[in-house]
Amino acid sequence: AIVLGNGMVRPLMKLMRFQTQIREILDGVKRMQPVLSMREGRAKTRQTLTSSAVQLSGISVSYGNRRVLSEVSFAIPAGRVTALVGPSGAGKSTIASLLGGLVEPDQGRILVGDCPLADIDNVQRTATIAVVAQDAFLFRGTLLSNLKLGRPDAGEDQIRQALRVAQAEAFVDALPKGWHTHVGERGLTLSGGERQRLAVARALLANTPVLVLDESTAFADSRTEKYFYEALHRTYPALTVLTIAHRLYSVKDATNIVVLDHGSVVASGDHASLMQTCTLYRQMWQAQAPQQSGSVNQTRPAVLPG
Ligand code: ADP
Ligand code: MG
Repeated sequence: AIVLGNGMVRPLMKLMRFQTQIREILDGVKRMQPVLSMREGRAKTRQTLTSSAVQLSGISVSYGNRRVLSEVSFAIPAGRVTALVGPSGAGKSTIASLLGGLVEPDQGRILVGDCPLADIDNVQRTATIAVVAQDAFLFRGTLLSNLKLGRPDAGEDQIRQALRVAQAEAFVDALPKGWHTHVGERGLTLSGGERQRLAVARALLANTPVLVLDESTAFADSRTEKYFYEALHRTYPALTVLTIAHRLYSVKDATNIVVLDHGSVVASGDHASLMQTCTLYRQMWQAQAPQQSGSVNQTRPAVLPG
């Protein structure tokens, strides 16, 4: 047997932990293989993007034989917040996955500016569109290493700004080791809301022109949620945002609300016009009305159901 000196145990254990991490990463890559090989058919290169406006045209997506999006078309104008709403199972998260390059459409195309998303290589796509998934995850490591994933050279001011907008600054500062706290296995366990906030901060820090939020503010009450959108707009005024909204109240002021049902766009417009023209939107609003008017310090919705 090999007898190890005391000084060698620590580095060796470090090495073993590192090996486990590498294995986890490789497993992750293996799971992504079907997605990667699916895309091999098409040449992808670095593109010159003329605008951060996104346009979905005639998009259909199936999982196996099951079609979950049918000829979905809508625009996400540059520098504004577009909201995507609809019942659970409507296909909203599938749209987030499309924009994140995790799902490929059977038909149709997505343009960023004038450029088909399918022609943009993965590195550039990641630098263009940040997607905060519905089940936000953190890698094992410090909060800081998680935050800096999309922007390794981020400075302290930029990190603070992103944490502040994502409403994560207070709870991170309250940790004894602040953002040097370890998360993940044997690290600190965070609540779902805390994870979501950190994932939002991480996406903001990546400084992409397009941000997709998939029910990322579900942690917040509707007032906090409103503050979030205000701070987001104030701090990142040029950002093009698609937000998949849990609560209609929080996106009521969006100029462009897209209503998705059973994989199809059934209506789009602003709140007032949807209240008049879209039965589903009106029903969803009515179903949520008691919650909305019941929350703290809040004016009642301008257009009341009824
Ligand atoms: P939403 O976010 O609006 O709730 P999703 O896009 O998550 O809707 O799902 C749309 C439909 O596709 C649902 O019926 C869901 O069960 C199904 N679905 C979602 N992801 C998968 C998947 N990976 N494989 C098979 N079916 C899926
Ligand atoms: Mg979803």
